[in-house]
Amino acid sequence: MTERPHLAVIGAGPAGLAATVAAAAHGARVTLIDSATEAGGQFYRQPAAALRARRPQALHHDWRTWERLRDALGSHVRAGTVRQLTDHHVWCVERRADGFTVHALLGRNQEEPAGERADAVLLATGGYERVLPFPGWTLPGVVTAGGAQAMLKGTLAVSGRTAVVAGTGPLLLPVATGLAAAGVEVAALVESAAPRAFLRRAAALSARPGKTAEGAGYAVRLARHSVRTLLGHTVVEAHGTERLEAVTVAALDRDGRAGPGPRRRIPCDTLAVGHGMLPHTDLAESLGCRLDGPRVQVDDEQRTDVVGVWAAGENTGIGGAALAVAEGHIAGRSAAARLRGAVPDPRGWAAAAKARTRLRAFAAALDTVYAPPAHWTEQITDDTVVCRCEEVTGGAVREAVGNLGAGDVRTVKLLTRAGMGWCQGRMCAPAVAGLVGCAFDPGRRPFARPVPLGVLAQEPAHPTEEGPS
Ligand SMILES: Cc1cc2nc3c(=O)[nH]c(=O)nc-3n(C[C@H](O)[C@H](O)[C@H](O)COP(=O)(O)OP(=O)(O)OC[C@H]3O[C@@H](n4cnc5c(N)ncnc54)[C@H](O)[C@@H]3O)c2cc1C
Repeated sequence: MTERPHLAVIGAGPAGLAATVAAAAHGARVTLIDSATEAGGQFYRQPAAALRARRPQALHHDWRTWERLRDALGSHVRAGTVRQLTDHHVWCVERRADGFTVHALLGRNQEEPAGERADAVLLATGGYERVLPFPGWTLPGVVTAGGAQAMLKGTLAVSGRTAVVAGTGPLLLPVATGLAAAGVEVAALVESAAPRAFLRRAAALSARPGKTAEGAGYAVRLARHSVRTLLGHTVVEAHGTERLEAVTVAALDRDGRAGPGPRRRIPCDTLAVGHGMLPHTDLAESLGCRLDGPRVQVDDEQRTDVVGVWAAGENTGIGGAALAVAEGHIAGRSAAARLRGAVPDPRGWAAAAKARTRLRAFAAALDTVYAPPAHWTEQITDDTVVCRCEEVTGGAVREAVGNLGAGDVRTVKLLTRAGMGWCQGRMCAPAVAGLVGCAFDPGRRPFARPVPLGVLAQEPAHPTEEGPS
């Protein structure tokens, strides 16, 4: 029997799971690699086994899809067609003459190197949250909306007693309802999108009755928990000395400015804030894959322009878990066929392709509704910290732009150190781009994770294809 071709799937969220299951079912040998200790990604993040959660589904949507993916993954693992590597933090994928080597770091301190050889790679690394700065955003008690959600789903814990959920984007809805259901008093949901933005796109948004029903479900739950929803508003300041004590909220005018009108001060000990999501493109970029704006560019089969590299899910554009599953399915089937030397027949994934078209159109409509306030940079005072790692303020960035002539994020970085710290600009680059007035560019980073010098100095890591690593 000829050996099955080997596909490495990086990311075990909805996209990576769907891709793994599809590729394994169609003749590939798959290694599914993720930095987390459990499969599921952001959407299907699972509580730690030790917590023995009795009803984990209570915090989730579309649990049936998770059960289907989880069970199919389990069957393939038992059959030996899939190997699952958890706690593997991939820092680089190396292109070689005979395929690829996926380099990862293991262990608590992420210092132990491991390498995985594969004939092809499928990137399903998802996205990350964008948080735009405002005065007080570095106070303890201010967390990202997704972070609050991840803590709730992963540890069944909440970060405070009284929360404000703020920013923009559909993620705020499950965060606010999830916190309220967990017993937190949600004092307000502050969404910068104005009611007219929803009305303007009403036709496109109602084209997906399932999503309309989901939205209505959130509205009912918010009402049940007496959560005040402020559309067309923004948090202009977080207050506190040692930690967060209150936020000030202002209404936005038609131009997206926090107007001079009355401002409300809302006492709270937690602010869960997020301004949308951005695709994770590091690994794709270091492989030389072409980007389309901030996302990895793919064709109808989810292939990147680098031979042997597929991408699926939120790294190809933010669109939600259902879209990630559809893209993952197509990518997995395409990769399995191409690795066998066959030309795949798209009729085999017609249903997924149809879903992908519909869901991408819906995501594009959502994108035009949910956007940070047009003049959000005006909220950044000169003493607001913009780059948390290097403690660079809004005033320092403005000086680099106004007095020293910086016209892009990279020059600001060289002049101020903004973006040079641990996160390598992942947090601050959108804010710096806004202050400079240039388009956000994910920026090329050679490594997706910080790598100890000792690992870089070692001989190339040896493949761990046989046996667990
Ligand atoms: C913090 C957060 C919370 C969210 N909460 C919700 C929610 O409550 N409701 C909702 O509808 N949508 C939510 N979303 C959006 C939703 O998660 C996505 O639509 C969906 O999960 C996308 O699936 P995906 O497979 O593309 O990516 P993900 O689910 O993000 O999966 C990507 C996987 O790749 C892994 N990974 C990434 N980089 C590496 C690397 N270098 N090495 C190893 N592994 C890596 C990650 O650990 C992760 O498991 C959230 C997103 C985020 C970022």
